[in-house]
Amino acid sequence: MALHTKILLGLVVGAVLGIVINLSTDGSPATEQFVSSVTEPIGRVWLNALIMVVIPLIVSTLSVGIAGLGSLKRLGRIGVVAMLSFLSLTALSTVLGLTAVNLIKPGQGLDASVTQRLMETYQGDSDAMGLADGAFGIDLFVRIVPRNPVQAAANGEMLAVIFFALMIGIGLTIVPKEKGQPLLNFLESLGQVTIAIIGLVMKVAPLGVACLIFSVTARFGFEILFNLLKYIMTVVGSLAIFFIVGYSLILRFVAKRDPIEFMKRARVVILTGFSTSSSNATLPTTMRVAREELGISKAVAGFVLPLGATMNMNGTALFEGITVLFIAQVFGVNLPLSSQLIVILMSVVTAIGVAGVPGGSIPLLMMVLGIVGVPVEGIAIVLGVDRILDMCRTTLNVGGDLVTATIVERFEGGRSTDTAYSEQDIGERH
Ligand code: ASP
Repeated sequence: MALHTKILLGLVVGAVLGIVINLSTDGSPATEQFVSSVTEPIGRVWLNALIMVVIPLIVSTLSVGIAGLGSLKRLGRIGVVAMLSFLSLTALSTVLGLTAVNLIKPGQGLDASVTQRLMETYQGDSDAMGLADGAFGIDLFVRIVPRNPVQAAANGEMLAVIFFALMIGIGLTIVPKEKGQPLLNFLESLGQVTIAIIGLVMKVAPLGVACLIFSVTARFGFEILFNLLKYIMTVVGSLAIFFIVGYSLILRFVAKRDPIEFMKRARVVILTGFSTSSSNATLPTTMRVAREELGISKAVAGFVLPLGATMNMNGTALFEGITVLFIAQVFGVNLPLSSQLIVILMSVVTAIGVAGVPGGSIPLLMMVLGIVGVPVEGIAIVLGVDRILDMCRTTLNVGGDLVTATIVERFEGGRSTDTAYSEQDIGERH
């Protein structure tokens, strides 16, 4: 059986079992005990194992990829195409989200008692999240250059790690061949070993995925789901439209690829993004699929995908836009067009600073709420259903990374050398 079929099976079995347990035991302490001491730890171990290899993967593939480009000019061109694609995808998805939320108005008519109950239940969670440290604005910019790359890696500051890896790659193109070769060999070897580890970890993906989704559905408050159904449908519907229609059009007309073929080949990525709710945890799989299934060159995949997993969050921006307006509608705050434009801008900018981990966007979303004058504590209303929405938006996030990689490949891929580390290539550069 193919891996994606097994993962899908794990997802369905885990979800269904969780729902059955949830509905039949109705939040009993035994269920909670089982989730917190069995399925959640197993799921998290699997997630940890994926995240464990992200730093060595980024450092090796990015630096080797840049070295393979051979010149700063090429790097600049690829960088510009990638950034333009990231930003346009994010802006388009946010506009779609805002249009949907303005048309559907899911926040109007939400029962006041429901609002109050949700606020009381999730107030504690939202207080805790508000304290989380999210980089933003000038701070985000300054932190891109780490003083201490090891510390940045330890703190999971991905943009800083990316910058460091980028500089190593650039350094490799500058030094004479015999000086650079040992490091290049080491980095390439590190990359290959990392990919081998990912292969092993993905072998147990069906179990990891089943445990993760079981933990969500067994605990989930289905009552909240029904109360917030209109909001959930607005978010999930917009994400789905952007994924199916938006990505298909972009793939067809910009990347010049067959969308159906693309989706088929990308399904392991889609399933992994959905079940882990983490762009970072999905990155190793995204890399493998880009190289092996979509035929994207090493240099393009190595450059675009780590950057995308960190900076490109189309689904997150769409979700942020809808949620800010939803909470404003619940509280009767009227946001005129000018404020909505700020919401779009803020959603696009904050999405760059969002960490690619489950729930990574919540602290920054709270900041956007504050900026446009919507009660920040309103976040409590949506926290109970956030995990489900997180799964959906992360799917769009990782999909957008792959779409961008195909776009960059179309414009620049042919020109990048894939035999980046061969003797001959290095020889040609010096
Ligand atoms: N979970 C998302 C991701 O990793 C980030 C978020 O929107 O919370 O892509």
